[in-house]
Parts: sequence; structure tokens; C-alpha cells
Amino acid sequence: MTNFSLATALHPFSQAPQPDRPLPPPFHISSQPSLNIFFLQGVILFIVWVTSLFLSASPSLAKSRYVTIRYANPQILKDFNENLYLNRSLSRMIKRKNIVTVEDEVYAKVDLIVEKVEVVLDMFPKNINFTLVLVPTKKEIAALYKKNYGKHVNHIAYYSLSRKTIYMSVNDTRLRVLAHEIGHMIVDHFFKVRPPYNIHELMAQFAEKHVTD
Ligand SMILES: [Zn+2]
Repeated sequence: MTNFSLATALHPFSQAPQPDRPLPPPFHISSQPSLNIFFLQGVILFIVWVTSLFLSASPSLAKSRYVTIRYANPQILKDFNENLYLNRSLSRMIKRKNIVTVEDEVYAKVDLIVEKVEVVLDMFPKNINFTLVLVPTKKEIAALYKKNYGKHVNHIAYYSLSRKTIYMSVNDTRLRVLAHEIGHMIVDHFFKVRPPYNIHELMAQFAEKHVTD
């Protein structure tokens, strides 16, 4: 089912396209502005800056303690959110007060799963920082894997050690699948010397099995 690769070959990889962050509108500056105009421009710039803080909806700008999530369009994120059911005990732990958008909810869920897997594995690495790339189906997973490692596989998700990135088919997204890959990610962050492949896999399977405890 799920898998990860120890291959560390680095090939150029184009990430899922990111929507551009909306730029503040350009200001026309006259050649000899008075002090008042400078002041006014300062005020306007400040307002635009503050507004942009609240309106920044670009996926790469959303804040999480652990993860940057990349996806091609909002529908992919929505489908991912719908398929990522949490069990009741995890669901209760979500801090609803900060959740406004689908993106907020997804980040809250993924952060929570990271923390649950840390508890399951009893590993609490510092400075967890990984990327989660969401693609529509396992066809795209196979294409990415082929491109990066030159092998044809039938995975629905995998973790790249060299990129610290989880690639995930949204069609096949389940809590346990994500917990498995997050297990690999945490093991990868925890050990200074990489454990043998089978042990890596065993710990990921343990995370997958016990995430719902
Ligand atoms: Zn695995």
C-alpha cells in the first residue's frame, strides 16, 4: 500500500503551481511630491500591508508549526480535507476557534496528526519542517516517482527523505495513510543516523496502527 523510498537522487522537480500572492496595487509617484503626499503614501502603504496580512490566501503562506502544504487548486485541498476523516478522539482535540477556511482546517488536522504520531512513537524531534504535496490520484504519484527515481510504482503516497516531502494521492487519502507517512517523516527527523529500511518501515506501520488509539 503505502511506501517510501530510500533513494536520494536529486532531480529537478517542479512543484505543484502556486497561486501568486496578490500584489499591492502599484502607486503612482509624482516627480516632486510634497511632504503630505509622502505621508499619505505611507498611510496607504501601511493599510495595504495590514490588509494583505489578513487576505493572504496563498497556500505557501499559510502558517503551520510543521508543514507547508502544496496543491494545484482549491478543489484538491477541499477533497483532501473531506477524505481526511479524524476519529472521534482526534476530532475533539482540534482547536476550532482558529478555523475559518478549509485551509485552516487542513493545517490544524495535519498539525494534530503530527503531534499524535509523536506521542505514539515517543519521539519528539525539534524543528520539524516538511512539505506535503497533494496530487489528485495515484497516477500523479506514479508519474512523480518515475520522474524522480526512474521506477514504476503503484503507491498512493510516499515520503522522500532527500526532500523531506510527503507526496499524497488525495483520492486515496485516509488518516492511517497520512499517519504512516508522517511516521516516516518523524523517524527521519528524530534519528541522526538513519535506521535500517525495515526498522524505518516498522515504525511507520506502528504509527499507522496506533494513530487512532
Ligand atoms: Zn512505509
